[in-house]
Amino acid sequence: MKPISALEEKKGVKAPEIFSASSISKIKSSRKIQPSATELIEGIIKGNKTALSRAITLIESKNQEHLKKANTIIDTCLKEQKNTLRIGITGVPGVGKSTFIEVFGTYLTSLGKKVAVLAVDPTSSLSKGSILGDKTRMEALVKDDAAFIRPSPSGESLGGVARKTRESIVLCEAAGFDIILIETVGVGQSETAVHSMVDFFLLLKLAGAGDELQGIKRGIMEMADIIAINKADGKNKQAAKIAKVEFSRALHLYPPKENGWIPNVLQCSAIENTGIDSIWETIQEYLTKTEPFFKEKRKQQNKYWLLQTIDDQLKTNFYNHKKVQEQLKVLTDEVMNNQISPFIAAEQLLSIQQKKD
Ligand code: GDP
Repeated sequence: MKPISALEEKKGVKAPEIFSASSISKIKSSRKIQPSATELIEGIIKGNKTALSRAITLIESKNQEHLKKANTIIDTCLKEQKNTLRIGITGVPGVGKSTFIEVFGTYLTSLGKKVAVLAVDPTSSLSKGSILGDKTRMEALVKDDAAFIRPSPSGESLGGVARKTRESIVLCEAAGFDIILIETVGVGQSETAVHSMVDFFLLLKLAGAGDELQGIKRGIMEMADIIAINKADGKNKQAAKIAKVEFSRALHLYPPKENGWIPNVLQCSAIENTGIDSIWETIQEYLTKTEPFFKEKRKQQNKYWLLQTIDDQLKTNFYNHKKVQEQLKVLTDEVMNNQISPFIAAEQLLSIQQKKD
């Protein structure tokens, strides 16, 4: 085993056993022990879930020192290239996402896969964890050694949540999780963010409810690689069959995907555990048929996130600038009263920040 840090090696301090059962319980019991970035990286690469959790906590922290440490960890983990699959799962609240992820995740671990479940839910800080917050909804998966579940970071804007989830994906993959399931609520912008961080996008729907009732926007249908009509059980079976035909017809109205994939409509019941294997088979088929596009899609996603992060950062810097904030109020009034053109006002505001820089 490598020494845990150059500093400790120099000092002649004996490296403790990293993430042995006793060191894990020490880490858990004492908040004072802060493992170094190197220790966490070594733990993550060995597949240690405690190390993974702690590193994600660093990613989610607002403390600059923690973030610096997180960046070192992300940087190293990024180089641990592995064959992984990122699947986004969306659908309105109540469609059965948690129940589905519980059975789908368990199905995947039964196939020998290691599954990590993450979430993008910018509302969770308000609703106290509307998705994944209540882990009891995934009882089997929580106890499954081959699974790792992490709720959405709280108290963040969508941009913040999305970035942190994306960085957490990198760590989960370095920790040996082959399949990353990313849950999001299909009612806002969050599914666009998730769509741009996954290889495959699954939309869960209900039979018998119109799109308006399901709160699903047209754009989300367009992003889906599979539409799965959940709760296709009991009295709902017939309605699910009809919905399948209707959605298949509706999907034909959309332009074909760049990678040539034609989205499928399937039925499943998360409660009765039916149709889950067909969904997995379809995902396999997708991977085979779109294989030449797989790497390119991830490259484009990396580029998207680079530009998105620059955008976010520029905006944050701009709007947090004290003089900008003062002048923005004044100039907004003037613009509204036609005293100054919006374009000239914008130029003046943007130049304030440039002067400072
Ligand atoms: P989420 O808000 O999308 O995560 O939905 P949940 O997984 O919490 O499920 C919402 C409700 O639908 C719960 O009462 C579940 O028991 C129920 N449910 C989930 N999947 C199914 C299913 O396949 N069939 C039926 N009949 N009920 C389901």
